[in-house]
Amino acid sequence: MDLKSLIRDIPDFPRPGILFRDITTLLRDPDGLRYTIDFLAQKCIELEIQADCIVGMESRGFIFGAPLAYKLGSGFIPVRKRGKLPAAVHSIDYELEYGTDSLEVHQDALSPGRKVLIVDDLLATGGTASATAKLVQKTGCELVGFGFIIELGDLQGRKYLPDIPIISLVEY
Ligand code: AMP
Repeated sequence: MDLKSLIRDIPDFPRPGILFRDITTLLRDPDGLRYTIDFLAQKCIELEIQADCIVGMESRGFIFGAPLAYKLGSGFIPVRKRGKLPAAVHSIDYELEYGTDSLEVHQDALSPGRKVLIVDDLLATGGTASATAKLVQKTGCELVGFGFIIELGDLQGRKYLPDIPIISLVEY
């Protein structure tokens, strides 16, 4: 299936100069959605990535991470922006283009030795994925891979990620 044909390009969103890769058109397509999750799961199996849990980042990482966890028979753990999770959290600050932001995960969601696969919709500069990796590593878990639907190759985000398998289904 041609996934690119289901991803819509929106120029100058959210700011002038950004070409936004809109996955809502893929999500609303029943065959496209099923194919995407199945394809991601198949790549995990081919690469022998055996994760106890999938960590997905707010918010588009939830959309792909949870069904992938269901498919692979693992649990799903949300990483959220600051102040959204109700119980005690681990936090990490990371740099944005302008200023900083924080990501959080429940302290009791991840315990040392668990094998974690991080999932998000898109890898751009790698800032979000790399901060999530550090957050997961703070808990003593073992990172076993990353899964993205889209990779923006020019930005070379994978250079900033740990040396473990990085899956992306579509590259621009
Ligand atoms: P980064 O931290 O630069 O790798 O950016 C990754 C996050 O920003 C992902 O959660 C994406 O959803 C979002 N993002 C960055 N660039 C784009 C883009 N061109 N189109 C859609 N989403 C993007």
